[in-house]
Amino acid sequence: MPKFQENVSLAGFSNYKIGGPAKFFFEAKNQQDVAWAVGEAKKLGERVFILGGGTNLLISDDGFNGLVLKPSLNFIEADGEMLMAGAGVLMFELLDFSVAKGLSGLEWAGGLPGTLGGAIRGNAGAFGREIKENIIQVESIDTNNAERHTRNNQECGFGYRNSIFKELNGGEVILSAFLKMEIGDAAAIKKIMQEKIDYRLSRQPLDYPNIGSIFKNVPVELVSPEVLKDCADVIKQDPFPIVPAARLIGLAGLKRTARGGAMISEKHGNFIINTGGATAADVKYLIDLVKKKIKDKFGITLEEEVQLL
Ligand SMILES: Cc1cc2nc3c(=O)[nH]c(=O)nc-3n(C[C@H](O)[C@H](O)[C@H](O)COP(=O)(O)OP(=O)(O)OC[C@H]3O[C@@H](n4cnc5c(N)ncnc54)[C@H](O)[C@@H]3O)c2cc1C
Repeated sequence: MPKFQENVSLAGFSNYKIGGPAKFFFEAKNQQDVAWAVGEAKKLGERVFILGGGTNLLISDDGFNGLVLKPSLNFIEADGEMLMAGAGVLMFELLDFSVAKGLSGLEWAGGLPGTLGGAIRGNAGAFGREIKENIIQVESIDTNNAERHTRNNQECGFGYRNSIFKELNGGEVILSAFLKMEIGDAAAIKKIMQEKIDYRLSRQPLDYPNIGSIFKNVPVELVSPEVLKDCADVIKQDPFPIVPAARLIGLAGLKRTARGGAMISEKHGNFIINTGGATAADVKYLIDLVKKKIKDKFGITLEEEVQLL
């Protein structure tokens, strides 16, 4: 009989190494376990939070007063040019599998941390591409009534770092997905993935615990012509013309600003790193500071890309 664990520290499940305890914690190894856990939480009257790889999450120092459910559905299968994978599969495992099968289409995700479920929920993207381009169909389960849903790509409501699953705000656990790929050359696929990984290593402060870019990039039309002059060299399609939030943070002179163990990275202004012993409150202080300074200086409202729990 499955059982919830109690009072489990979440810091070890966060890429940031930050976070208090979960009242209840459960790692589901299959779809039946997920259905059981959401039913049990309902019976107990507990809220449910779904945890993926913890690479996009700032977990509160107080933890979570409810059930943290980790859907560790870790299967991957190939059928011709299609992949079927569980939501708990780590993106690098999916990429390794694609290389082994000579399947092209996910090269852009080289070095993208986290799980497939997390990537679908946030429509993760990089280098002008997004996971939505690969998605054929997504299976999920309602946390309220354990009802199953199957959605095609259109029905997933993908937008910039958005999807229906994000809109539902934890209302459904993504279980698995079918992904569209193309037959390719394994060596060529691997080479492109490695280039993406190398690019990230050269630009991102990966030697410190972090949760990736804190803020969404800013559509060019929201940036004044004077500020745009200082950003012309970094405007890129991602997937529409944007000014990287990192440049604005750099222009505002905020790099290396620190609070407790948290610091705005010198290497990449949109990363707040944990230099040791940072608390969620330290990080939140810096997030609020950056938002205020960028609003005051450039009239731009930065929006968090990371999720706060
Ligand atoms: C170094 C670094 C670089 C990054 N680069 C990029 C990048 O280039 N592009 C980009 O888009 N992101 C990037 N990210 C952010 C992050 O990797 C992605 O957002 C990733 O998709 C999050 O997946 P996760 O499994 O870690 O989700 P988590 O951080 O565990 O959770 C994030 C959200 O997704 C929800 N969630 C997770 N799994 C499920 C599920 N099965 N069903 C329903 N909801 C679920 C959670 O409830 C939470 O709200 C980066 C992060 C880091 C640390």
